Amino acid sequence: MSALVDEDLRLIWHPAAQMKDYELHPPVAVVAGAGCWLRTEDGKKILDVVSSWWCNLLGHCNAEITEALCDQARTLEHVIFADLTHPWAVRLAQELSLIVPKGLCRFNFADNGSSAVEMCLKLAFQYQAQTGHPERIRFACLTEGYHGETIGALSVGSMDLYARLYRPMMMDNVHLKAPDCFRCPCGKKRGQCHCECLKFAEQAFAEHGGELAALIVEPLLQGAAGMRVYPEEYLRGLRKLCTQHGVLLIADEIATGFGRTGEIFACVKAGVSPDLMALSKAITGGYMPMSVVCATQEVYDAFYADYKEGKAFVHSHTYAGNPLACSCALAVLKILKRDHIIEKARKTASWLTAEFEKRFLKIENVGEVRHIGLIHAIELVKDRRSKEPFDPSLRLGYRIYRRALSEGLLLRCIGDVLYFNPPLVISQKELEFAQDVTERCVRAELEKL
Ligand code: PMP
Repeated sequence: MSALVDEDLRLIWHPAAQMKDYELHPPVAVVAGAGCWLRTEDGKKILDVVSSWWCNLLGHCNAEITEALCDQARTLEHVIFADLTHPWAVRLAQELSLIVPKGLCRFNFADNGSSAVEMCLKLAFQYQAQTGHPERIRFACLTEGYHGETIGALSVGSMDLYARLYRPMMMDNVHLKAPDCFRCPCGKKRGQCHCECLKFAEQAFAEHGGELAALIVEPLLQGAAGMRVYPEEYLRGLRKLCTQHGVLLIADEIATGFGRTGEIFACVKAGVSPDLMALSKAITGGYMPMSVVCATQEVYDAFYADYKEGKAFVHSHTYAGNPLACSCALAVLKILKRDHIIEKARKTASWLTAEFEKRFLKIENVGEVRHIGLIHAIELVKDRRSKEPFDPSLRLGYRIYRRALSEGLLLRCIGDVLYFNPPLVISQKELEFAQDVTERCVRAELEKL
């Protein structure tokens, strides 16, 4: 392949390409991947500790998934998924039914995270309408939540960065004040509370419970908010509130699913069964875009009727149930189970937590180290005691991220939160390299202030 020149790169509407300092940071062209490593066009190696936006699970170009994909491509690449079906989707539904939280037993397919969220919202809305509650037309969600970028998904997100401009296009939802264990709104400390912050949800449910079709949450981890980890007890509290008020609970496990939190699903870890659950990202090991919505029998039954009644869920995406994606997902589930990947990742995670704390808490400007599963984050602050943040215009997190990238490490920042969310198969040696680079870059950029 001929080398990409600047003109080629500018063909793509990449966010950075719209910024005037683009010349300083043109995108890095990646031409190959193996394990946790990427190779750039100019022959450099980059360690990918963000799983290429949290979707790669078992390493890049994993031989077994690649083989499953190639075999499938030679057998059946795609088929319309209405009236017709195929064994790979059926087998995947069977396999999923064995691992999803109790009660989830019906599976619907889409092709990315946002469209799975849209599907959950429509299903909840229609469920309420068809079970005698047409007045339940609003959704509740957590502040700082993120569920994707389509209009419905943006509406149940609360992150201004993505949503601000589009507010006039959005649904009017109820935004519950989310837990924030680093800067607790109730003045408590992480791990030393009784989820007093649940009172905000209780108040909102008392006021709006009767209008709500569903509550949607990212279970245990608000990822895009800055890897905010919150207690299992809080999630259980939300489940209870939903049940009391006749509101469906939608678990968005798009980021947390398939071992990211140390359990197969965050809901399983918390012992919570949602009414609807959205899966995507790691489901295919990061190979193919696919999403699945899981539902309970009770939800499913509300759609089951004679044709004349028109109760069916009339919703389809062209690539729903794509056989290539299903085969990748089947290979992923097989490897996860056979090779005890999640158990092994749990061990790596407890080692990493100790290392992270030892190394990063020594740095005065690290306000907190937080973690769940292999996901580890540090939040940089101007003052550790007051937790005062740095002036955002310094773009400290971004500068550290760029420096790390130039030193062969792909981590990511969300403001001044730097995080790792690596493939589950990453080794201690690779994580040592990642921490060395991170520490060096953090110290270097702090010194420049
Ligand atoms: N929900 C969550 C929790 C996510 O993290 C994401 C993607 N980061 C989405 C939904 C949207 O998924 P997609 O980008 O595939 O539309």
